[in-house]
Amino acid sequence: MRTPMIAGNWKMNILKDNDDFPEQIYVNKINEAIKEKDVEVAIFPPFTHLGLIYGLADELPDNKSFNVGVQNISDNEKGAFTGDVSAELVSDVGGNIVILGHSERRSIHKETNEEICKKAKIAIKNGLQAVICIGETDEQNQSGDTLKVISEQFEKSTPSDIDVNSVVIAYEPVWAIGTGRTPSIDDIENIHSSLRKYISQSRGEEFANSVRILYGGSVNAKNGAEILGLNNVDGALVGGASLITEDFVKIIKSL
Ligand code: PEP
Repeated sequence: MRTPMIAGNWKMNILKDNDDFPEQIYVNKINEAIKEKDVEVAIFPPFTHLGLIYGLADELPDNKSFNVGVQNISDNEKGAFTGDVSAELVSDVGGNIVILGHSERRSIHKETNEEICKKAKIAIKNGLQAVICIGETDEQNQSGDTLKVISEQFEKSTPSDIDVNSVVIAYEPVWAIGTGRTPSIDDIENIHSSLRKYISQSRGEEFANSVRILYGGSVNAKNGAEILGLNNVDGALVGGASLITEDFVKIIKSL
């Protein structure tokens, strides 16, 4: 009922014409993996590569489950915002999805829940699916505040009155991103199921049962199968391992 999504966040990496990372092979291998599984894939390259990756994906014969998007958008719709990229510009060149509120943007760029919510509304209005990231810091985790923190982030960052298919939630503990550390398997399932319960109280049972909640934070080719096998985990947001073609494909195939 919830089609899993495997998302690859390239962050600020990968130069074009890079022999160690042939984009054409990457796209083709992912597409082969998609055909073997009931899965949607979303690739988030830097803005500069959106046209390139979209172009490669667009040439695939059956590419409905291959989404290409960006890692952020402006919180303004259009106009004199030098250096910003709007949802409409992304959509115009084939992007159909955007990561919002990644912990690196919340911490480095001081993005607030309110800004993320505004961006999500603009994204959805322009036909982009919004992948809204939430997650607690190590300190918040240690003090037992995980659910309180992520339910508040969900509540304030996710617009109300939206079609459930226009958003995906990514639970990414900040302390697990890029560190090689992950919560225990039991903790991941417990947090996801508690979050879904919270979402049910807040947005209704139908919304909660249909919304995809991805796990993100040090997912790799070794731990992917166990994490993705959990009942309330509907896919993964993958950083580092999404840049290693074999590993990313293995994660998709481990579904
Ligand atoms: C991320 O960037 O969202 C992420 C989860 O990174 P990593 O998989 O490298 O921890």
